[in-house]
Order: sequence, then C-alpha cells, then structure tokens
Amino acid sequence: MHIVVCTKHTPDSEAKMSVDDAGNVSWGSSPIIINPWDEYAVEEALLLRDEHGGKVTVVSMGPEDALEALKHAIAMGCDEAIRVWDEACTGSDTLATSYVLAKTIEKIGDADLILFGKSAIDAETAQTGPAVAVRLDMPSLMYVIAITDIDPDGKTIVVERLLEEGRQVVSSPLPAVVGTSKGINEPRYTSFMGIRKASKMEYPVWTLEDIGADPEKAGASGSGVRWPEVMMPPAREGEAEIIEAETMEEAAAILVDKLMAEKVI
Ligand SMILES: Cc1cc2nc3c(=O)[nH]c(=O)nc-3n(C[C@H](O)[C@H](O)[C@H](O)COP(=O)(O)OP(=O)(O)OC[C@H]3O[C@@H](n4cnc5c(N)ncnc54)[C@H](O)[C@@H]3O)c2cc1C
Repeated sequence: MHIVVCTKHTPDSEAKMSVDDAGNVSWGSSPIIINPWDEYAVEEALLLRDEHGGKVTVVSMGPEDALEALKHAIAMGCDEAIRVWDEACTGSDTLATSYVLAKTIEKIGDADLILFGKSAIDAETAQTGPAVAVRLDMPSLMYVIAITDIDPDGKTIVVERLLEEGRQVVSSPLPAVVGTSKGINEPRYTSFMGIRKASKMEYPVWTLEDIGADPEKAGASGSGVRWPEVMMPPAREGEAEIIEAETMEEAAAILVDKLMAEKVI
C-alpha cells in the first residue's frame, strides 16, 4: 500500500505573530516546525504501513523551510520525501496549493491513501485536504478519529468521523483522501536513528514542469483570494480586582455579591 502524507511547515505554536504598518505578517525568529496536526497523519500512515506493508511518502509544497516538516516526518519513520517548489508557487492560496498538491499526487501515480492533518495552525482554513480530493475526484473523509478497517487489496476503507453530534461510520472505496483529527493516535517522538536518517537523506525538489502543472494555475496567478489587509485584533481592555478578605468563605461571599450586582449570576 502506498500512503502519501501532505504536510506543511508552520511557525512554532508558541510564536507571537506581528503585523507591520505595510501589512507584512511576521513570526519573528520563531523556530519553524512541522504543522503539529500533521504529526497525527504521519503517525497513522506509519501504523498502517507497519500493519499492511508498503511505503509512506511525505509531500510538501513550499520553499526551503518546508524541509523542516519533511525532515520531521522522515525522522518519525516515513520512507520518502518530496518537496515541490517553483518561484511561480509564491503567494498560493488553498485553490493554488490544492492544484499543485493534486498534480504531485497524480505524478506519484500509485497512491492508495492520501492523509492530511485537520488544519494548519497558522492560516487554518482546513480547505486543502477536501480541495485536493475534489481535484483528484476521490472521496473526501474529513475529521477522522479512527480508521477501523482498510483492505488494500479490496480497495476499501472504513472510518469513524468525529462530529459535534457524535461519531459517524463511513465506508468508501480507495484511493481516498483522509483528514485526521487530534486523538486518532499518539504521535511518536523522533528517535536518534530517525533524526540521523533525516539529516543524511536527499530531498528531491520537483518543479511545476516536473509535475506537469500549469504555472498560471499555481501561486498568486492561480489564486482567487488576496489578503488586502492583515491586522492584529485590538488589545483587550479590562480591570482586575483582588478581593481582600480574612477567609476564603468571606472572599467567596464578597465575590458572589459583586457578581450579583453586575447581574452576571
Ligand atoms: C506568508 C504567507 C502568505 C500567504 N498569503 C496568502 C494570500 O495572499 N492569500 C491566501 O489566500 N492565502 C495566503 N496564505 C495562506 C496559504 O494560502 C495557506 O497557508 C495554504 O493555502 C494552505 O492553507 P492552510 O494553511 O489553511 O492549510 P489547511 O487547509 O488548514 O491545512 C490542511 C492540511 O493541508 C496541509 N497543507 C497545507 N498546505 C500544504 C502544502 N503547501 N503542502 C503540503 N501540505 C499542505 C496541512 O499541512 C494540513 O495537513 C499565505 C500564507 C503565508 C504563510
């Protein structure tokens, strides 16, 4: 079974975003990491490969920083990595990103299952996975909390989707696109051997020409969305009051009086 995992790099979740007067977004010198939600997709791919055989290829469309995501996935245990990049990919929205990823998966040719994380922690549209599925004319199974059955020979998959109202069991033919939810598994730590393998590995870069993609449909020219203005939310204003009292009970009684006076309770 050939499993493809799509992943992107993001600033560390601890990083603070800032926007300058010209609207340029910056995460300062924050470390670049694999999108944390993608670790669940990578882990699920490794578990399936170990049970059913085959290989896991990890794919990222992005500039050199994207190597951080690919290296982490290789250090976790993935077999192959492909970075797709071309200057013409700059300024991609999800429309353009999904086009390039779909062309890459077509070029790979024999993918049985394509895995995504639930969203990326920076732009967080959660659109890329479903958009790739539409472009490849494959079933799109999102918010998956368990892959309960997969038959690589019979080309079928059964998953549980985590919805607000409960869980939904869905079966579908393969190949399919699956978006993993947090909690589907417990992602492994990278091992010393894995990190060594990742640091020594060659990372091929596929260009738009390599994947047979039209540069007009990639990057800014292939994007429907522009960010004409980006701004930070206004700082929250508020007051804090420390309740002085001899005992906890007294403090609680004062707090209740204040909350009732403000009609909070
Ligand atoms: C500096 C900067 C400028 C940007 N400018 C624009 C802009 O002008 N207009 C605009 O609309 N958007 C812009 N974006 C956002 C960009 O379009 C999105 O990051 C991208 O389309 C993916 O969407 P997402 O981040 O919401 O991922 P999601 O859809 O939330 O991610 C879902 C899954 O798809 C995977 N995935 C996402 N992108 C990739 C990728 N490249 N390769 C492999 N897997 C991937 C994720 O890792 C995750 O597993 C900008 C982003 C940055 C960092």
